[in-house]
Amino acid sequence: MTITTISYKLRPFCLCKSDPSIDSATMSNVATKVAVVGSGISGAVCASALAKNGISVTLFESARGPGGRMSQRREISEDGKELLFDHGAPFFSVSNCDVLKLVHEWESKGLVAEWKENFGSFDCISKKFLDNDQEAPNKKYVGLPGMNSICKALCNETGVESKFGASIGRLECLDDEKWSLTGLDGKNLGHFSGVVLSDKSIASPRFTHVTGRPPPLDLSLTPELALKLQDIPVSPCFALMLAFAEPLSSISVKGFSFKNSEILRWSHCESSKPGRSTASERWVLHSTANYASGVIAQTGLQKPSSATLTKVAEELFREFQSIGLNIPQPFFMKAHRWLVHLD
Ligand SMILES: Cc1cc2nc3c(=O)[nH]c(=O)nc-3n(C[C@H](O)[C@H](O)[C@H](O)COP(=O)(O)OP(=O)(O)OC[C@H]3O[C@@H](n4cnc5c(N)ncnc54)[C@H](O)[C@@H]3O)c2cc1C
Repeated sequence: MTITTISYKLRPFCLCKSDPSIDSATMSNVATKVAVVGSGISGAVCASALAKNGISVTLFESARGPGGRMSQRREISEDGKELLFDHGAPFFSVSNCDVLKLVHEWESKGLVAEWKENFGSFDCISKKFLDNDQEAPNKKYVGLPGMNSICKALCNETGVESKFGASIGRLECLDDEKWSLTGLDGKNLGHFSGVVLSDKSIASPRFTHVTGRPPPLDLSLTPELALKLQDIPVSPCFALMLAFAEPLSSISVKGFSFKNSEILRWSHCESSKPGRSTASERWVLHSTANYASGVIAQTGLQKPSSATLTKVAEELFREFQSIGLNIPQPFFMKAHRWLVHLD
């Protein structure tokens, strides 16, 4: 019986009754039929690696499409324009040689490109941009044509059977050391000799807040995993998607962090990324975790109402307009809540 969870940044940590030091690459020695839960970058990379090692992989994802926090959001404006936003991770950087090899492979397939723009930070007290990109000189990569492209390609690889709209509601260990997976709708989803979990919510009270049911995995079955899960930080964030008719000419950089703002943490120009439509100027703002926690303290952990999201959108945009950069009114504005850890 093997259970593996994958930490963010592609670094797997794994648990196995017979060998506690097992990692996902050697999972092939102990499991032949594996379920991967989650189609974010860690689940998708793991599913692909296992399939390449000859394992039969079935990937289950509760959302309609792949990507998780590397998703792309499609919106339609009032006048019928299609607007695409990377409303989760805006880019990624690489510091690990093995991951860099993988990224070069994705680059050669046209799934990823470097985002070569100027980046910086903005001080909300002096109302000035600080030195460009001093803090994060690493190359910034984005998926092509959206951040979800990598996960999409990996979920479609030979040997990976992907099932979307399939939420795991229960994981049970059977007498024959196999795992039985049941959907949230009660459907039997099969038996597997190994399971890979890519989302902490599978064993956390957050699952109960959202679904009203107990978490799928009973952590008393896997005490080592329970300890490791404690170390994964969780903090919330609101993302605000904005579309403007004209470029924001007062901003000289295409992505910047905010210094001395209680509300805003980061902002980037979506339409400046390679492979994106430039028919409109699209920006995404991220709130601070403190601001998001304050909203959640008032409204609860359940899915935010549209009234809450509208209020959040107005507050984030008001802060953006107040920093003295002459920001015009957008023709599209919508907020999204993430209940996750930020790296
Ligand atoms: C606003 C924001 C900004 C960020 N900025 C950056 C950045 O600049 N650079 C960077 O490197 N990272 C950034 N990150 C973090 C990065 O997005 C994540 O670390 C990474 O995408 C996590 O991938 P993952 O596969 O571990 O998890 P996820 O992407 O969360 O994937 C988990 C998947 O599991 C699915 N799932 C959960 N429970 C179930 C279930 N019961 N049944 C079936 N499916 C289930 C979920 O739907 C989800 O798709 C940011 C994240 C956010 C939200």
